[in-house]
Amino acid sequence: MLRRLAILLCSTDPRLHRMLQYWAATCVLYFVCIGLLLQQVKHGLSDPGATQGLMLFGACGAVAFYVLIRLHARLKLAPDQLAVGQAVFSLVCSVWAYAISGPLRAAMLTMTVVIIVFCMFALRPRQTHLLSAFAILGMGAAMWWLQAHDPLRFPPVTEAITFGYLAGALMSTALLSGEMSKLRSRLKHQKRELSDALDTIRVLATVDELTSLVNRRHMNSVLEAEERRHASVADTCIALLDIDFFKRVNDRYGHAAGDAVLRCFSAAARAALRDNDVLARWGGEEFLLLLPDIAPADAQAVLERMAERVRAMTVPGLDGSRISFSAGLATRRAGEPCAEVISRADKALYLAKEAGRDRIVVA
Ligand code: GH3
Ligand code: MG
Ligand code: MG
Repeated sequence: MLRRLAILLCSTDPRLHRMLQYWAATCVLYFVCIGLLLQQVKHGLSDPGATQGLMLFGACGAVAFYVLIRLHARLKLAPDQLAVGQAVFSLVCSVWAYAISGPLRAAMLTMTVVIIVFCMFALRPRQTHLLSAFAILGMGAAMWWLQAHDPLRFPPVTEAITFGYLAGALMSTALLSGEMSKLRSRLKHQKRELSDALDTIRVLATVDELTSLVNRRHMNSVLEAEERRHASVADTCIALLDIDFFKRVNDRYGHAAGDAVLRCFSAAARAALRDNDVLARWGGEEFLLLLPDIAPADAQAVLERMAERVRAMTVPGLDGSRISFSAGLATRRAGEPCAEVISRADKALYLAKEAGRDRIVVA
């Protein structure tokens, strides 16, 4: 119930959630200020009527901004537009609080600085600079008006010096926001670079560069996962495939042609497979094929189909010479480690080579 209420209030959309988090932080500040304002009234430091007016204004603003944030997409309001609106509203509140806080008024200026610090995190430096200028002008105008109309309670010299301190603090904060923004964009850039590097490392660690098939290291993880998945079922077949007379191809047509054979073989073999079959480059011209959830007869049919495709392929630089492969096929018994299945497939492959190559032998 509480969770549902939290989701309803704070939303699950990450962007909206972030905006509402900022809003909630502002509300906490409002509540603290309201508590302190009530204390001021209790001790006769502020006028009750004016304080009530400010509290009502603050509460209405908080509710209005909650509604605006929730409806921002429908109203086509950008998040930073809303953040600027909230900052302007809070600055108006802080000027108001300054005007009604009597001897405590200088303490209200800390809130003005806090609002600008908030902006540093949510807005671009230019926006923060403009809001700082707005705060200096707004507070300056209020101070000028107060000392002009009530010089006894707001002595002109005190107001002028207070204004100097405030302007100094706000200008330094605004300058820091530029540095902060540079730091943020540098962090964002580094994060992107790191994630790109991670993608590259992931590819290098799992894919064979020449054939784009799964490499031996990654195939070992796939086999481990297969062992866990098929603890009691016996429907997985494993085949070892080896290109026939490959050394002769290299010797006769050159290493580049040999590489082209490996690439063409990989593409042709992969085209004969289902989505969840995995073909890996196991060694130089040797490949391991994992066929999950398949009957041995069907696995043999897959290999026959593959053999036809490989025989039919034309490899550039081979003057029309045909390529074939030999394969050993083994079925995994329930709970059997994949290494043992591979060993039986290897023996069957040896028999296929012995029997004259270009054939599939079932272990
Ligand atoms: P068999 O029919 O008995 O399998 O004979 P084979 O010639 O295919 O087998 P052998 O093991 O004698 O030769 C394999 C050759 O594969 C030797 C090696 O130079 C070559 N080879 C291994 N990796 C690559 C590679 O990445 N590119 C190229 N072009 N050749 C490779
Ligand atoms: Mg070979
Ligand atoms: Mg070999």
